[in-house]
Amino acid sequence: QQVTTDMATLTREVEKFAEGKKLEIEALKIRENYRKEFMGNVSHELKTPLFTVQGYILTLIDGAIKDKKVRDKYLNRASKGLDRLIYIVKDLDMITKLEAGELHLREEEFDIIEVIQNVFDLFEMKSAKKNISLTFDLDYEEPIYIYADKEKIQQVITNLVVNSIKYGKIGGTTEVSIEDLIKNKVIVRITDNGEGIEQKNIPRLFERFYRVDKSGSRKEGGSGLGLAIVKHILEAHNEKIYVESDFGVGSEFSFTLEKSKQRAPVQTSTAKT
Ligand code: ADP
Repeated sequence: QQVTTDMATLTREVEKFAEGKKLEIEALKIRENYRKEFMGNVSHELKTPLFTVQGYILTLIDGAIKDKKVRDKYLNRASKGLDRLIYIVKDLDMITKLEAGELHLREEEFDIIEVIQNVFDLFEMKSAKKNISLTFDLDYEEPIYIYADKEKIQQVITNLVVNSIKYGKIGGTTEVSIEDLIKNKVIVRITDNGEGIEQKNIPRLFERFYRVDKSGSRKEGGSGLGLAIVKHILEAHNEKIYVESDFGVGSEFSFTLEKSKQRAPVQTSTAKT
């Protein structure tokens, strides 16, 4: 009797062990597939701009360098291709670190309005090229203090504003608005009247390397990582990103942020030393 029980226990233990190993192998397979898929995507993303730059340089070597006008044009294009490569590599670096949980948040108190203004200043030229106006819809002028990683939240707003310009119509608008919610939160909305997104494409929008219109995105210098980065950064803050879009009419991306509980202490002349 004793032996039978022991055998049964042993069998259960062996089965449990085998099940554990099976799960481990499954996990390894998933990780390996993920790695392969990621590497495949990376080389695919890098190939196009690399070949473009190589093409211009080879043409220059082949003689085009002798014609000043052609030389300047090709050097300019090669330089733009390199800018694109740098942009893609930076995004790749960011997504790799975010997915591996290696980008730690440096939370601090800051004024979200100032961050939005920074983003507008940085992309004024880009929006002017498409005659897109960047507008700010605020109920009042006061600063709104947020407690979060300032640099990463600026990255989130940058990616969303840049997309609204990239996929915006010529002469369109991008509007950023902030709604002060009760419960210590604000909601930031980035609204455009651009090309919009078909409903069926919305569920995949935040996947890395996913694009609705591949050639359109590449032409605009996209890496296909912008929204995946946005999602990861907000998730790291325990916040979510929402999207509503009407195809041909425009899109609205929105997310919440936590207001700072404690305002920075005001320096007064009577403060004790
Ligand atoms: P990309 O580098 O291609 O812009 P993103 O991850 O930022 O990558 O966006 C993924 C895709 O979502 C884009 O390729 C585009 O098709 C679509 N998209 C993102 N933002 C907008 C927008 N404001 N209007 C229309 N389409 C958008």
